[in-house]
Amino acid sequence: MKTTKNIEPHNFSKVQSRTTKWRHKKKLMGCYKRRQTEKACTTQVSTSIGSSISVSQTYSNDIISETGSPCSDNKTCPKMVVNNATTANIVSPSVGSEHSPNLCEIPDSKLLHRIPFSLESFKSGLVDFYSNSGLQLNQLDMLLQFLDQFVEGLPKDSRSLIGCIRRCSGIDNVPPGKYYHFGIEKNLKTQTFNTNTSIIQLAIGIDGLPLSKSSKSQFWPILGSCLPIRDNGVFMIGLYWGDDKPSDCNLFLKPFVEEVKILHSKGFQLHGKSFTVQVSFFACDAVAKSYILKTKGHGAYSSCSKCTVSGKYECGRVTFPIKIGPLRNHDDFVNKVDTCYHHTDETSIIIEIPQLNVVQAFPLDYLHLICIGVVKKLLMLLLFNAPHNLRMSKKSVTEMNKRIATFSTMTPCEFGRKCRDFSEVKRWKAIEFRTFLIYIGMCCFHGLLKQEQYDNFMLLSVACHCFLNPCSTFNGCIAK
Ligand SMILES: [Zn+2]
Repeated sequence: MKTTKNIEPHNFSKVQSRTTKWRHKKKLMGCYKRRQTEKACTTQVSTSIGSSISVSQTYSNDIISETGSPCSDNKTCPKMVVNNATTANIVSPSVGSEHSPNLCEIPDSKLLHRIPFSLESFKSGLVDFYSNSGLQLNQLDMLLQFLDQFVEGLPKDSRSLIGCIRRCSGIDNVPPGKYYHFGIEKNLKTQTFNTNTSIIQLAIGIDGLPLSKSSKSQFWPILGSCLPIRDNGVFMIGLYWGDDKPSDCNLFLKPFVEEVKILHSKGFQLHGKSFTVQVSFFACDAVAKSYILKTKGHGAYSSCSKCTVSGKYECGRVTFPIKIGPLRNHDDFVNKVDTCYHHTDETSIIIEIPQLNVVQAFPLDYLHLICIGVVKKLLMLLLFNAPHNLRMSKKSVTEMNKRIATFSTMTPCEFGRKCRDFSEVKRWKAIEFRTFLIYIGMCCFHGLLKQEQYDNFMLLSVACHCFLNPCSTFNGCIAK
């Protein structure tokens, strides 16, 4: 049932008192003058009808937007009361006022084809208007107070209006937070593909992202990229938010895995061609990897994801022997053969992804293992933590800083970040450790370290060179 609300005289003095800015007053005064004229028109119509006019909430969206137009325009005066078929019946050409002939100028077809009023779409339109017009919140507050005279059910506060509109559907509860699935197919349809291929290979990235240092609020995004990875080719597949990571990763990953299964079996159409989707690998750090696969953490004795080697507890930490153990394989992972590696009571939903070799699909994390792991540890030992006879002297450190500064001036723009000197080594980013290991370390250390230490560093540097070079035949042998 439609509710009605009587038109009241507009209390502009009250509205005006809510602002101190002259431009608001100016706008309102202009509006006030127009409203006074409209009021005169309305009064004339009301008098002619012989009773106060009750305006139905079947106003179209045009009602409010058109009231601000100048009354001098002959077509605008009656629109406060005539905007749909219902109210058109109230004001007929027989109304005896000087403005009434203007009503005849509005074609009946136009009146009858007004969009039926919907409060939700009206509120949504208001939020769009607010977003696009550059209005301030206090101005929107004033507008809402003004509209409250005509429309029942509108929030009186702009924050309530924006809040209730922004509440979108499709957000699932994934304890202890919320999850929204953007979808793979939607994103893939915005990408361009090589027309020769019908199978799209995806790289997936999953990691936690703290939102602030003062709270536990965090994101867990699922990111995707088509292979080969291109610039700006990363898209959001799903996003979790909560005060802690999802308590059950299977619940968090379920929409993603279900969509992958559908896209792999049925595919999707794009530009008249059908494509299927296959997940190639996951890029995760050690913490995210053990969380997603429901395996023991990286500090456990059987935590290596590639082999079954077992570690030992020495000097307050778990250490692993240099020799690798028997390699893991997909079937052993699915059957949980190594009970020391798996949480036996839980199985990851990841194994349901078609044609995914779980062991090979989770490569070792170079950034954390090598850059922030081994290289940082090595530099910390040489600068601060090693015994005095193995530590670098102050003179050597000063010389090192000069060399780093020299290299920084010659660093090409393709490098994302230049190395800072050793006084800031504790705040170095991973990319600075990488630059030092791969490009400048061998020159910086030359002649300043003991030969044994220098050789040790060079072994690591050359090994990483070989692994990182995509054209390296050595890298190809390892892949086989
Ligand atoms: Zn291993």
